[in-house]
Parts: sequence; structure tokens; C-alpha cells
Amino acid sequence: MKDIFKKVQELSEKYRDYTATNLSKLVQIKSLSMQEKEVQLELKRQMEEAGFDEVIIDGLGNVIGRIGNGSKILAIDGHIDTVDIGNMENWSFDPLGGEIKDGYVHGRGTVDQEGGIASFVTAGKILKEMAFDRDMTVYFVGSVMEEDCDGLCWKYIVEEDKIKPDFVISTEPTNLNIYRGHRGRMEIRVTFNGISCHGSAPERGDNAIYKASRAALEIEKLNERLAFDPFLGKGSVTISEFKSGSPSLCAVSDYAHLHLDRRLTWGETKESAVKEVEELVTALEGKVEVLYYEEVAYTGLKYGMEKYFPTWKIPENHPAVQTGIQAYKNLFNEDPIVDKWTFSTNGVTINGKYGIPTIGFGPGNEVLAHAPNEKVPVSDLVKASAFYAGYAYLI
Ligand SMILES: [Zn+2]
Repeated sequence: MKDIFKKVQELSEKYRDYTATNLSKLVQIKSLSMQEKEVQLELKRQMEEAGFDEVIIDGLGNVIGRIGNGSKILAIDGHIDTVDIGNMENWSFDPLGGEIKDGYVHGRGTVDQEGGIASFVTAGKILKEMAFDRDMTVYFVGSVMEEDCDGLCWKYIVEEDKIKPDFVISTEPTNLNIYRGHRGRMEIRVTFNGISCHGSAPERGDNAIYKASRAALEIEKLNERLAFDPFLGKGSVTISEFKSGSPSLCAVSDYAHLHLDRRLTWGETKESAVKEVEELVTALEGKVEVLYYEEVAYTGLKYGMEKYFPTWKIPENHPAVQTGIQAYKNLFNEDPIVDKWTFSTNGVTINGKYGIPTIGFGPGNEVLAHAPNEKVPVSDLVKASAFYAGYAYLI
């Protein structure tokens, strides 16, 4: 085993420039959600060039590369779509340039999270070169639409592609720490109806804005008393949108809704979160609903799911986490930090919905995700490519 890890490390170093260049090529292709076609063709090309046994693009547009044909299934996931550039004034370099300079690859998506993808392509190349012979199938997944609806791509992979791995590594940025969970989330709409009348005589009507406003102040208080988990932190709720309508600016409002961004900690579920809000708004005749996401993928397929993204965590002593710790020690001769993400990932369906043991390990610092001047250290890419290959040997 010692020799294997030594070889993995040598090859990851040998392919340092290869990995950085592959990432640069991905970054140069703008890849917003539902517009990933061109970047996916490039990723497919890279996997084929690396010698993967098979590379397919599924109905939703996910690129799935395979190495091996064994009975155990490991999947390594990275979403290929990125958020937009934002205000160009805030960037000190070209966000779509993919420039490799001073030990970094620069640009939108280097951290969140095409860096993880470039690293796992190299891991696949390493496994092929070492004639990987474990009784295992490894899937390398470049997934779509994550920035728009985290987890949707994996709902498709499990339910339509019928791939259900035994273990998954998410390659979202972790700063090369090992992550084992994050809070869940959901999007809730609370709607209030009123009765309009002439604004000169408001006593004849029933103002929807007043009801929604009373509810809004109750939701502010609700945020203070939500559950706390020592590992994942506190559940939270905030109002992200307040909209109202009325027949005229000289009329009592007859419609209002609140949009709630609810973050769920351990033990909080869709049912519990909906019930809490219902209890606050029933007297105000508010209607509570969990919103539904539906969009057309770049392949033309319309697909969706409820906007409930379950909380997930797995115990530190779980074999999936322990294997990660061991692989890290074997490669880098030190103990990794085991922690959690602040943001949400495809883990919401992979583990939260389907219960598949999942860990996170990825290059780059998550504070640069969705931020200007996003860049990833090439040394992180090298270490991540070694980690993914090493993990496949150990699990
Ligand atoms: Zn991401």
C-alpha cells in the first residue's frame, strides 16, 4: 500500500501542469447553469484523452466518466456550472481568462468548482496509468444546474440513470479539509389575501400588507429560537422578499407574500419547518407552501424537484470519513482537519435524500466562491488529484 501511495503522489506531481491546463480550458468556456453544453463537451474530451473506460452524457446533461467495472461503486462529483461574473470592476484579472500565473489558476469557477473537476480527471488518468485493479467501479461526474438547484442533478442520476453509489466524494472547495456535512435549506412562500376597497375608506377593506407585516415580525422572533447543533450550528430563517399588490395606489392591498430563506440544522425537517411557520400565520389566514423548482436543462429536458434540500452529516467515525483521513495521512504525512461547509452542495440529495455516505474534499478556499478575483492554488489541485486516486485504492 505504501508503494501505491508513493506512486500516486509522484504521478499527481508529474501531471501538475496537465491538471492546471485542463482547468484553464474549462474556465475559458463560460458555463452558467442550463448553458453547460460547450464546457461539458470539453470535459468529455478531457476524460477521453485521460483514458477513461467510458464517458457518457446523460439526459440532463451530466458527464459521467467510468473507470473499472467492479462491484463496489465510488462516485466523485463536481458541478461544472458556475455563477455569473458579477461586476467586472471588482475583478483585477479576466474572469474567463483561465490565466495560470504565480502558482494559481485564475478565473470564475476555479474554486467553485471546476478545480475539483480538473483534479478528478487527473485522478482518473493516474488510476488508468497504475492499472487500477480493485473490485470497484469509479464514476467521475461533472454535474449540471447545481448553482440553480443543488442536488437536482443527483436526483436524476439516482432515479433516471439508476446509478446509486456506495460512497461519494463531493469535490466542492474545502481548502483540502475533509467535510462531513452541512445545514439543509428550503424555500417557503407565505401568501396573504385581503379585500380591497377605496383607499379613502380603509375600514371597508382588509389589508393584506398588515397581515404579512405582522407575520414578518413573528418570523424575525422565530429565527431567535430555532434549534442548535454543536457541529452544524443553528437553524435560521430570514425574509428574502416581500411583495404585495392592490388594484391601485388608492386602494387597500388585497395580496401579499413573504419569501423565506430557511436554513435547517440537524433534526429540523420540512415538516417541522412548515409547521412552525403555519403556527405563526394561521390566525392571519396565511397560506404556507414549499416552492417547486423546474427548469429546462441544456439538453432540452424539463426537470424539477421540491425546493427542500435536507440537512446532512455523517459521523466522524464512519468508514467513508475514516478512509479519507487515512488517505490524507498516507499522502501528506499529517492529520487533516475534519469540518463542514457553510454553504449547500449536491450532498443534500446524495446523502440528505438517498442516504449515500458522502464526504467533501476539494481544492480552493470556499470564501472565494461566488466572489470576485476567484483563484485556486495549483498545489491544491495536485493534492486533490492525489487524494481522489488514493481514496479509490483505500475505500
Ligand atoms: Zn459550488
